[in-house]
Amino acid sequence: MADITKADVNILVQLQKAEIETVEIESYLKGVEEKKSLLESQLTDFKKALDKLQNDFDIISKTCSDADLEVKLNDDRIEKSSANLKKANSKDYALLLREIDNNKKRRETLENIYLKNLEEKESKEKELKEQEQLFVQLTQKIRSQQEDIDSKTISDRERLKEHQEQREKIAQNLNPYLLNRFNEISQMSGGIAVVEVRDELCRGCFMNIPPQLYIEIRRCTSLIQCPHCNKILYHIESLS
Ligand SMILES: [Zn+2]
Repeated sequence: MADITKADVNILVQLQKAEIETVEIESYLKGVEEKKSLLESQLTDFKKALDKLQNDFDIISKTCSDADLEVKLNDDRIEKSSANLKKANSKDYALLLREIDNNKKRRETLENIYLKNLEEKESKEKELKEQEQLFVQLTQKIRSQQEDIDSKTISDRERLKEHQEQREKIAQNLNPYLLNRFNEISQMSGGIAVVEVRDELCRGCFMNIPPQLYIEIRRCTSLIQCPHCNKILYHIESLS
């Protein structure tokens, strides 16, 4: 057991007070950060859906212009066959006529495909524009909510800085071994490393402290930790 003085325990108690303040504000600010990133993920999810829509639109646009090109190529073929018709002999004439006829029928099919794609393209375009607008609105709304959160927490951040500085200052007065112990226990116990013993009860875990240990704590000459919750124990009356 490490030797300890009343002065050490007094510093530990002060350090614990500063630690509680710091941990409380830190955990509040952590919750705030989580709220902010939750808002951010709403935006990311929306953007993902928007990108998917944009991609669908690009695909249908390409299909549409391919179909349009196909119609034009078919028209060219009809035009070319019609020009050849004028100088064709009787055998070729019949062949060309059939070819023209086939291509005209094909034109109808191609045009139907084109129109169907065009309709889909226009509907996707409309949807895309609507969603883009909504995305702009949502972005503005979320940015303003995030700024609101930031401005509301300015004073908390300042308070945290003050408490952290105060904690540093107190910690400077503590010997490094005790400070290490304090930090280790605090980290494992959510910011509580030093607790009072009252009526032979540890106020950290509310378990009974054995009589011999209780006497040791009251004597305040060595570092005593709770046998149940491991926290550093002190007795308030022994500090005065
Ligand atoms: Zn305990």
